[in-house]
Amino acid sequence: MLKSWSFHGGLRLPGHKHLSAQAPIIDAGVPSQLIYPLQLRPGVHLHATVNLSDRVVRGQIIADAEHALATPIHAASSGTVHAIENRLIPHPSGLADECIIIATDGLDEALPAAHPVDFRHEQPGVIRHLIRQAGIVGLGGAAFPTAIKLNPGPKRQVDTLLLNGAECEPYITCDNSLMQAEPNAVIEGALILMHALQVERGIIAIEEPMTEAFARLSEALEQHRNLRLSIVRIPALYPTGGEKQLIKVVTGKETPSGGIPADVGIICQNVGTAAAVYQAVSRGLPLTERIITVTGQGVNKQQNMRVRIGTPISELIGQAGGYSHDVKRLIMGGPMMGFALPEDDIPVVKATNCILAASDNEIVGAKEARPCIRCGDCAKACPVNLLPQQLYWHSRADNLDKCKEFSLFDCIECGCCEVVCPSHIPLVQYYRAAKSKILVKAKESEKSAIAKRRHDAHLDRKAREQAEKAERARQKKAALAKVKAANAAQERTE
Ligand code: SF4
Ligand code: SF4
Repeated sequence: MLKSWSFHGGLRLPGHKHLSAQAPIIDAGVPSQLIYPLQLRPGVHLHATVNLSDRVVRGQIIADAEHALATPIHAASSGTVHAIENRLIPHPSGLADECIIIATDGLDEALPAAHPVDFRHEQPGVIRHLIRQAGIVGLGGAAFPTAIKLNPGPKRQVDTLLLNGAECEPYITCDNSLMQAEPNAVIEGALILMHALQVERGIIAIEEPMTEAFARLSEALEQHRNLRLSIVRIPALYPTGGEKQLIKVVTGKETPSGGIPADVGIICQNVGTAAAVYQAVSRGLPLTERIITVTGQGVNKQQNMRVRIGTPISELIGQAGGYSHDVKRLIMGGPMMGFALPEDDIPVVKATNCILAASDNEIVGAKEARPCIRCGDCAKACPVNLLPQQLYWHSRADNLDKCKEFSLFDCIECGCCEVVCPSHIPLVQYYRAAKSKILVKAKESEKSAIAKRRHDAHLDRKAREQAEKAERARQKKAALAKVKAANAAQERTE
């Protein structure tokens, strides 16, 4: 076992993992409808590659874009394109956006799998291309395109792949279930990722209480006899699963403020992402399904489910025995970093790791806020070593420059400060709002800088044209004077 370090702050939270961790993974099957939002992340929109009434089959690309951060979407079952219209999307804004809706036909026909590839004989660029074409993004929740993350550029010397199986957020057990059910896919996926990065060291990090997952992964690793890959068990402390916290705990390295893991030679990937990479490269299957946890006291049966991406949440709730009388709020993600959903006709997307149907006592931050008493508890709990109280005052006062000065963008929105705050101040809401305002302001400044550049270029062009016109007039005048002088000279000689 490797030595582990610790990070500042963090919390030991009640896990509530037992609700869903014990039962085997249920296959949710094919839903009656599949819904695919075309907005992947703010500023990244795909365009539909299918038309209304087109028949599609599983594995077929139905949307894509040229954008560097775009990855294609594949249909998760066969059926007909029923509509391309605005629907509510799974986003904290609660807004609607353009979606492709497929009415499934129950036949579940699929494209034949692509030819499996022996990754050992392929260049990293080929592997990245396969991963991109399979639509793989980070399945830990961030949904950043995996192929982009595997290409940190020549300036960064990456030497380690760190596979994140820590799953530190309460209630969520999908990664734990995956590691128990498909340890070989996780190990194979890790080896493919290591090859794509050309690194000699891979570490799979899991939490200490995950004893079954540790046993299954260890058996699978034993069979591979690969000494470059190891498994490390780390203390169960929230938010150990945050990339920078995980790096600190496993390697002792500090990722610099504003930096990324590659700056300290590490690339982090989620264990689910590794399994998806294995399916894509070694089995020729694009990403059309994932495991998610459906849990909370607001549903009758808590369980992990293998779900087709695009499945409406309402269908999963039905399979989980329906809502219990305790349900108060539907959350996508966990109680700490998830966001509330306005209704359940919203689909599961690639980033969805958990649906939490929460009862009153499972909702974080539901109490009435009181004034800050400057107790400093928030600073003690912050895993990034920020000053949450100062960030709160400056966010509240819209003092955005001060927010930046206090490293607002290093805040991972983990909610530790909010949980310990005796005044129940919804601190993360303030930070999110301030971040959005800073980003909007930055975009506006960029727009006005572009407009100013255009205006200056226009003035330059006008001045140049006037100077050229004046020069032409001067030359014309000089030519006329010359002709006149020549005529006068000729008249004099006659
Ligand atoms: S924990 Fe709450 S009350 Fe205490 S300093 Fe932080 S924001 Fe203020
Ligand atoms: S939400 Fe941000 S400020 Fe609060 S504890 Fe987490 S990282 Fe620190």
